[in-house]
Amino acid sequence: MNNLQTQDPDIFGLIQKEKTRQKEGLELIASENYVSSAVLEAMGSVLTNKYSEGYPGKRYYGGNIVIDEVESLAIERAKLLFGAEHVNVQPLSGSPANLAVYMALLNPGDKVLGFSLDQGGHLSHGHPLNFSGKLYTIIPYFAKRETEIIDMDEVEEIALREKPKMILAGFSAYSRSMDWQRFKQIADKIGAFTFADIAHIAGLIAGKQLESPVPYFDVVSTTTHKTLRGPRGAMIMCKEKFAKDIDRAVFPGVQGGPHDHINAAKAVAFAEALKPEFTEYSRQIIANARALADALTKRGYRVISGGTDNHIVLLDVFGSKQITGKEAEHALEVVNISVNKNMIPYDPRKPLDPSGVRIGTPALTTRGMKEGEMETVADLIDQALMNKDNEAKLLEIKSRVTEFALQFPVPGINN
Ligand SMILES: *Cc1c(COP(=O)(O)O)cnc(C)c1O
Repeated sequence: MNNLQTQDPDIFGLIQKEKTRQKEGLELIASENYVSSAVLEAMGSVLTNKYSEGYPGKRYYGGNIVIDEVESLAIERAKLLFGAEHVNVQPLSGSPANLAVYMALLNPGDKVLGFSLDQGGHLSHGHPLNFSGKLYTIIPYFAKRETEIIDMDEVEEIALREKPKMILAGFSAYSRSMDWQRFKQIADKIGAFTFADIAHIAGLIAGKQLESPVPYFDVVSTTTHKTLRGPRGAMIMCKEKFAKDIDRAVFPGVQGGPHDHINAAKAVAFAEALKPEFTEYSRQIIANARALADALTKRGYRVISGGTDNHIVLLDVFGSKQITGKEAEHALEVVNISVNKNMIPYDPRKPLDPSGVRIGTPALTTRGMKEGEMETVADLIDQALMNKDNEAKLLEIKSRVTEFALQFPVPGINN
């Protein structure tokens, strides 16, 4: 950091501040994680200097001998990790990856069946301001009101009635397992493409804790920076017969040159995820989410769907405690606990101030926390919410949070 410190003390200072924030806070945003020093090092490497439009062995620029090896290694490791027939590691992030999938399989106007956004779908699954909602006809499916779990019979009913060209299974805020095989059976009845977006749960699938859609689905996209604990980016896996269309849609369809430094860091993260320690890590993520859900239930918070199968716990804070999602997010931020406000299924409130908050355990699990620590985390959350209007009390809780957080080192931060 010496060069940065002398050349640009402003940015250096801000990075130091952010390090402190990450060390002293409790990161419970379900889509976030801490990468290893090895991943950071690959991201900060000279590979960023290269232009390499195209694919290994077929580039538009010279000098890509080394880059070809880097990208091929990332692809081989991803194939091994997920058992995929074909992998494209170039997508710059999850949303552009999904854009490429839509472009590869559909024409504008085509019908897509996807999980309702206000119940846990991602904005690239049909938000009216997103490309997906603007270019395609999105038909939503829902969680059942009584169970708050996706009702596969209803999915089938809608699919048979609407005959979408593609069925999309995936979510950003849902805590239950997906029935991939049933999705595939339904799609086969109407000849629809199957597209799984495992952005949130890729690490739990790589760690063999959740069933994988890769054997069943035509195409599977994922980010690499959430539970998978790699650099900010994405990849697309598919059956061999879609390989050409997917590759063309990524480049030149959506993107120009790949980010080779990021692809190198993806390769590093995939190698980490292939280790037995990662299986243990992903098992612990789910154990921690369950422990946190139980500890919060004991304190009177209603957990959506009654529990969790993954890293996500959705809380109905308004229904449980008459605190809105926005108020809860704010009170927790004051004490250095990061969560995000979130809609709950059939939310009577509005998106900007919904009934719920979404909590996730991947980041705290990376810091080495286990079930016992989840009891403390639940207590700190509850204390902050119960004292949300008491500034003095919140300050006191904040110092407890800091003291607790500092006992668990963040990978990649030494000073
Ligand atoms: C996070 C997420 C994405 C997109 O990720 P970005 O990298 O932020 O574009 C796509 N799909 C799902 C389901 C996600 O949770």
